[in-house]
Amino acid sequence: MTQHRDGFIPEYLLEQLAKEGQEEAKKTLKQMKNIKEKQQDEKKTGVRASQPGRINHANEVTGQAARYIYDSEHTDEFKRKLVRGEGAPPAPDDTANKAYEYAGATLTYIKEKLKLNSLDNRGLDINFNIHYGTDFVNAFWLGKDEEQGVVYNQMVFGDGDGRNFLSFVTLDVVAHEMAHAITEFSNHLEYEFQSGALNEHFSDVIGSAIKQHIKGQTAQTADWLIGDETVGPEWGGVALRSMKAPGTAHPRDNQPDHWDNFRELSLSMDRGGVHINSGIPNKAFYLTSQEIGTDNAAFLWHSAWPKLDENSTFSQAFDIILSTAQQLTNNRQLPANTFEAVKKAIQAVGIKVLQPV
Ligand SMILES: [Zn+2]
Repeated sequence: MTQHRDGFIPEYLLEQLAKEGQEEAKKTLKQMKNIKEKQQDEKKTGVRASQPGRINHANEVTGQAARYIYDSEHTDEFKRKLVRGEGAPPAPDDTANKAYEYAGATLTYIKEKLKLNSLDNRGLDINFNIHYGTDFVNAFWLGKDEEQGVVYNQMVFGDGDGRNFLSFVTLDVVAHEMAHAITEFSNHLEYEFQSGALNEHFSDVIGSAIKQHIKGQTAQTADWLIGDETVGPEWGGVALRSMKAPGTAHPRDNQPDHWDNFRELSLSMDRGGVHINSGIPNKAFYLTSQEIGTDNAAFLWHSAWPKLDENSTFSQAFDIILSTAQQLTNNRQLPANTFEAVKKAIQAVGIKVLQPV
């Protein structure tokens, strides 16, 4: 089982920035490698059980998710200093309050719109580590370890370098990372090739849906950008990705928006294109939302999600989304035009499905 260990900023992009001489990108790559090595060491030495900040499945309780915001104080430590817990008054640090607020907005949205009790549907607590590392230009979710049966359940956010990237504590980044946990708990989509691109895609779906909901936007008025509040003055683009127009968010943006331009990549390049080919399903979600509204589209995607298996391809996933659309329309849980809207979107991006469209 491949764990989601890549960050919000894909490794291949950090490598590209490092090659261009960006010191912070180099440093971040090194820090991310250290985390991986630390985990490997723990596996070897077996110290994992005594490590703080992890929950074991056996001890999970079905309850109300609590939020815990920790300050790493620019070290690489998790759960270093609790700065705001659930129900506590605002902290002196504005970033801590934003993290608390955005985690809350995500939990409320998934509860009300997706009928999901936190990320695992069992009230999983939320642990954020902010101000992680120095000049750390990334955010990531450290999830489950299937082999060890351990749930790390930590989310990590850097402050950026102030040039290419600002703080990663923004609404869509927070929701994107939290959605990786939803995927992990619902279908374990393998983090490589097409299944990995679907994994990335779903996080962008949830990130966009929550951002639009909080900002009071519609599918028509939203900008559909991902990471637009995280990119800094020297980034040279408007965001990290665009669901409306994949491939146009910045000069290095190489996302296709049609199956004809699907990129066959090796594992060494973005784990087979997980942040690249996700442009194709992203565009399909955008197009569907134009017809039935973003909240309805997010509800449809999320309802289909547990039916995917860990190696699902684009075709298999959209077959399932189509049949789910039919069921939910029959049950009057979605607008009557939903099936047609998804069909049209699939045709527009050139994904082939088994059922005739
Ligand atoms: Zn991601």
